Amino acid sequence: MFPFFRPLQILKLFGIPIRIDPSWMLIFFLLTYQLATVIFPFELGLRFRRGVQFDVIALAVIASFLLFASVVAHELAHALMARWRGVSVLGITLFIFGGVAQIGDEPDSAATEFLIAIVGPLISFVLAILAAGIWIWLQALEAMNALPRLSIFLYISVVAFYLAQANLLLALFNLLPGFPLDGGRVLRAIVWAILKNQRRATFWGMVSGRGVAVLLASVGIFFIARGDFEGGWLLLMAWFLWRAAGDAYHSLVARELLKNITVGEIMRSPLQRVSETLSLRELAESFASSLCSPALAMDWNGSAVGLIGVEQLKKIERAKWETTRVRQAMLPLADMMVAPNEAALRALRVMSEQDRDDVVVIQDGHVVGSVGRAELARYLQSKGE
Ligand SMILES: [Zn+2]
Repeated sequence: MFPFFRPLQILKLFGIPIRIDPSWMLIFFLLTYQLATVIFPFELGLRFRRGVQFDVIALAVIASFLLFASVVAHELAHALMARWRGVSVLGITLFIFGGVAQIGDEPDSAATEFLIAIVGPLISFVLAILAAGIWIWLQALEAMNALPRLSIFLYISVVAFYLAQANLLLALFNLLPGFPLDGGRVLRAIVWAILKNQRRATFWGMVSGRGVAVLLASVGIFFIARGDFEGGWLLLMAWFLWRAAGDAYHSLVARELLKNITVGEIMRSPLQRVSETLSLRELAESFASSLCSPALAMDWNGSAVGLIGVEQLKKIERAKWETTRVRQAMLPLADMMVAPNEAALRALRVMSEQDRDDVVVIQDGHVVGSVGRAELARYLQSKGE
């Protein structure tokens, strides 16, 4: 994909990468604009003030950053709880409707699922209460005429009120009982504990997610019918949720299927070999004639050092194929190995963790094959998923 549209890593907290999707930047801008032109001037009683209002703009930017920090705190709570319960965490991505904490695998028990899901809204509630506390305290001071007009305290009070509302909304929205929203995950954990079956619980989770999606869409249509086009946001959200609910269920079914088959049963084997000193142009010609992708890259004394396939080739500009060697474009072998008797799900996990499309299968120190997303997809397709 074009690099601009990929989520951008902006910082790392507790070793967890925090990424921002470009759609979030749009929301950040719209939010700051709305705060600076409508909400804050109204609450500060400055609606009729003329000229560029630098103080209000600065306030809006600060409030947007604090909201951003609130969303990160919510997702970080999910991620740290997951890690504490032994579930690997890939990172946090912020996108148009907030954020998502990506975990490496499904939680292994209903209790773990419950704890990971509940802690996010809990943190949002705590933040809402803290902000409301500050607001109430400043309101009380103002009521006693202890605050000068337009003082720094008044500014803080306006931001605190906004953050209290926003965090409360964040907590309540996420607690809607539609999987994969947090509330839906709590629901799934409870059904899971009752039925003792994760798959059936997830099926009911999907039903709950789609139910809430239909509800959101109906409310959206109701607003639009009344001429309030902000209802369009609800329609968009409903569509996201409908799709996410289905995806989450199918991904669970897929994971179960991949748990029950070994890498050895679906790997590509044996791999053909190419020299790591071959130029990419020569490699492309070989792929076009007889070489199967991916191939094993060998060094001069005959040891396998990497994996090179059509995907790696495509990542290099065609103009550079003449001067680039296989060595420079290949995936190094280190850290991307699985054994033939391991579950195919483990291969998927290694690929997700390393953001790669293929892993090498090693037995007794020798490369015996490779398995990639293509093999996994083909297998799942054959099972009707
Ligand atoms: Zn959450």
